[in-house]
Amino acid sequence: MADDHRMLELIGVSHVYVNDKGASLAVEQLDIAVHRGEFVSLVGPSGCGKTTILSMLAGLIPPTRGQVLLGGDAVSGPSTKVGYMLQQDFLFPWRTIRDNAAIGLEITGRKTPEALRRVDELLAELGLPGSGSRYPHELSGGMRQRVALARTLATEPDILLLDEPFSALDLHIKLQLEDLVQQTLRRLGKTAMLVTHDLAEAAAMSDRVIVLAANPGRIVAEHVMPDELRSASPMDARRLAGFQSIFDQLWAELEAAEGAEGGDADE
Ligand code: ADP
Ligand code: MG
Repeated sequence: MADDHRMLELIGVSHVYVNDKGASLAVEQLDIAVHRGEFVSLVGPSGCGKTTILSMLAGLIPPTRGQVLLGGDAVSGPSTKVGYMLQQDFLFPWRTIRDNAAIGLEITGRKTPEALRRVDELLAELGLPGSGSRYPHELSGGMRQRVALARTLATEPDILLLDEPFSALDLHIKLQLEDLVQQTLRRLGKTAMLVTHDLAEAAAMSDRVIVLAANPGRIVAEHVMPDELRSASPMDARRLAGFQSIFDQLWAELEAAEGAEGGDADE
């Protein structure tokens, strides 16, 4: 059963949310496998279950049916193997950049002087040299998101879950960060799953893109990106000849997925 190349796996996974209004099937019968070092994006209309999928992988909610595996082991709760990066940076304003980036180390009892030196190195590698003793309000949105990335990487997770981490940023900062994140995750050999509503971002950053439809959340298409796009940086990939046709295809699939939805689409 265990395949060491499979870092992350959903097998026949469904999730039902139950609350005072009743039960709703958020995602149904998902089969997804992501290999070590792979970068996979999830795209799809609002409500198709992207955050639900990441929450199950992060061990925050259990699947109602099916199996969620990390490195071949069933997920039973949050794990230090997994880092989660969100749209909002959630930096604590009263903590320095270094202490914000080190919070995961602190919570897991690993905040040693050596680990703090590693945090400073990470900040420098992410383009924030010497910023450890500054405070979040002194930093721009793009710099803060770099701190959030340093915080996510500081605990050395094998797997990164990225839920729209660039969507609050200005376009040119976003493009710079896409390059930085892809380059950094590749260099460190991390496995990543990115949720984004930006199809160009998905096509430019990923090895593979999975398209979901909603009500219930399910997979409707899957694309392995061609080698020439994968080997280019996200910024350069956008300028390659093959990029537009993939973008158009994803666009058409997303429109079809939105059309396939039941009448109560929110947002
Ligand atoms: P996405 O991230 O793709 O927008 P979500 O995973 O947030 O989608 O939501 C998937 C579906 O599950 C939606 O129909 C949403 O309304 C529903 N849902 C999400 N969270 C809850 C919750 N805590 N309780 C009840 N329903 C929820
Ligand atoms: Mg979401």
